Amino acid sequence: MVEKKIIKEMRDYANLNNVPIILDEGINFLRDYIKKNNIKRILEIGTAIGYSAILMSDVAEDIILTSIERDEVRYLEAIKNIKKANLEERINLIFKDALEVDLKDSYDMIFIDASKAQNIKFFEKFEKSLIDKGTIITDNMNFHGLVDENIENIESRNLRQLVKKIKNYKVFLEENEMFITEFFDIGDGMAVSKRK
Ligand code: SAH
Ligand code: MG
Repeated sequence: MVEKKIIKEMRDYANLNNVPIILDEGINFLRDYIKKNNIKRILEIGTAIGYSAILMSDVAEDIILTSIERDEVRYLEAIKNIKKANLEERINLIFKDALEVDLKDSYDMIFIDASKAQNIKFFEKFEKSLIDKGTIITDNMNFHGLVDENIENIESRNLRQLVKKIKNYKVFLEENEMFITEFFDIGDGMAVSKRK
């Protein structure tokens, strides 16, 4: 078990430095999912400072996790946190843009939590690294409630574009014949896509 103090320090760091780590409800949901489905090999897109990576790996001692991060400051902070949590042997970090990474291994579960505008690209690239009956879980499907908002009411053009992309991703998941997706109003909204 990772010490409570380490978790608290990560949360404090995230608050101070505006790092968008997963909400309590979201991480509890992921941890339950990992436990119930006996998930052992996890791939995460978007490490930030290692908060969700550490808490997912902490569910059982035989879980191994690979996580990809392109921001150097966050990557280095994640390395530090993973050391503190004594999880260097089970968490493998890759410092790179995820769309440029080539993976050889297969994973039971993939957690997509990086640039929200690129979700379709991540999904299409990394479904190849998923086991036959694996699951892809995507965070921030509600994007602070903005996805259900009338798009005209969003003032910033960039934000409007982003919300449009998340909506498109939702349609992409709904229409995907290879996967069955359930959407949960948990945390900031999570999509659970199981391969048929
Ligand atoms: N999963 C983390 C939070 C991740 S925040 C947690 O809950 O604790 C999203 C992160 O994805 C950011 O740190 C950002 O730098 C990273 N990111 C965004 N696009 C990326 C890409 N294309 N490749 C790798 N990392 C990316
Ligand atoms: Mg998130």
